[in-house]
Amino acid sequence: MISEILKKDYDNLEPDYLYDTLTDISAYSIKKMGVKAIALDLDNTVLPYGSFSFDEKYTEWVKAMNESGIPVIIISNTVLSRAFILSKKLGGIPFVAPAFKPSVLGLKLASKKMNIPASKIAMIGDQADTDILAANKIGAVSIKVNGIKERETKRARVSKKTAVAALISTIR
Ligand SMILES: [Mg+2]
Repeated sequence: MISEILKKDYDNLEPDYLYDTLTDISAYSIKKMGVKAIALDLDNTVLPYGSFSFDEKYTEWVKAMNESGIPVIIISNTVLSRAFILSKKLGGIPFVAPAFKPSVLGLKLASKKMNIPASKIAMIGDQADTDILAANKIGAVSIKVNGIKERETKRARVSKKTAVAALISTIR
């Protein structure tokens, strides 16, 4: 019984869609998925853990979605006060926080709040064991993006390589 439950959860870690970053997801592709609303994770998806500032491109992305008729609601495990501040910065969008993902509570509330069935909501986040698991458990569309931290590490690795190459070329 326990192994059955574990297997089910394991299968639920698989996202429906994979993207590198949030801004790679267009309103057009969201609509093609049959999605009517977006549930958005914050930490490591929009900004680094614990941070209060993020790239302006994310506010633009939220605005573009809203203008295309796709409401965006934050579903974050962060504390209420931080979610409140960040939701204002993202254009005054609604939020559920703390959502206790992988609990489906946040998505359930979002579905009720927006009057849109969970199956028509896409949960976008960086973590399989919270964002993707919650989405798959409730039958929402699950979209995984690479975490900000991961992306920065990759970039840092590349620039380190470049630096080493530059150093070698100066020695030669
Ligand atoms: Mg996250």
